[in-house]
Amino acid sequence: PGFEELGLIAPLLATLAQAGHKRPSLIQVQAIPPLLEGKDVLVGSQTGSGKTAAFVLPMLQKLTEAGPAPGPRALILEPTRELAAQTAAVCRQLGRRLSLKTRVICGGTSREQQVQSVRDGVDIIVATHGRLLDLVMQADLVLEHLTYLVLDEADRLLDEDFSASMTALTPYFPDQPPQTVFCSATLPEPVMDLARRVTRNPVRVEI
Ligand code: AMP
Repeated sequence: PGFEELGLIAPLLATLAQAGHKRPSLIQVQAIPPLLEGKDVLVGSQTGSGKTAAFVLPMLQKLTEAGPAPGPRALILEPTRELAAQTAAVCRQLGRRLSLKTRVICGGTSREQQVQSVRDGVDIIVATHGRLLDLVMQADLVLEHLTYLVLDEADRLLDEDFSASMTALTPYFPDQPPQTVFCSATLPEPVMDLARRVTRNPVRVEI
């Protein structure tokens, strides 16, 4: 199939064509339709498979269709600052025909600047967990409007710090849990434990 058959809206199709992505990758073919339907998805796939676009495209579409909210509606958690910056760049690039704002929240840069950038209005947060938790606990960032959550490279998020952050963040999530995408290169039992904690009845896609 082409991207058209997956149900993506015209501005995304135009951006994909311009980016030279002629056809969806295997993981995109499997993950995009259930994500557009609002289901949770467990993606077992390596970097290079096109998994970032697989969770970013449905996110952009669903946020556009739903319209604005007073706080961020999507949160993508990354294991490192570098990955957070890369994923934010994909959100901006694929979303360039849409009016959605993406911000990176991570340590190692000015906290004040990050607080200011989220005050200016933001739709998508790409974060590492430490600074995110800091802003949320200090009430500088609200997560109560979240409708879409991604744990990217979850096999690299499996430390006690991350687990503690998730436990601390969960009470700040909305009562209606966000649609959740869980991505991991490998799915051994400890990773599956985390997946079961954060997803509900996920569609499992693997290549
Ligand atoms: P990822 O697996 O998300 O790290 O993506 C790996 C690379 O594949 C990135 O450089 C993307 O720009 C590229 N890519 C993603 N989707 C497609 C596609 N459908 N066709 C061609 N390249 C793609």
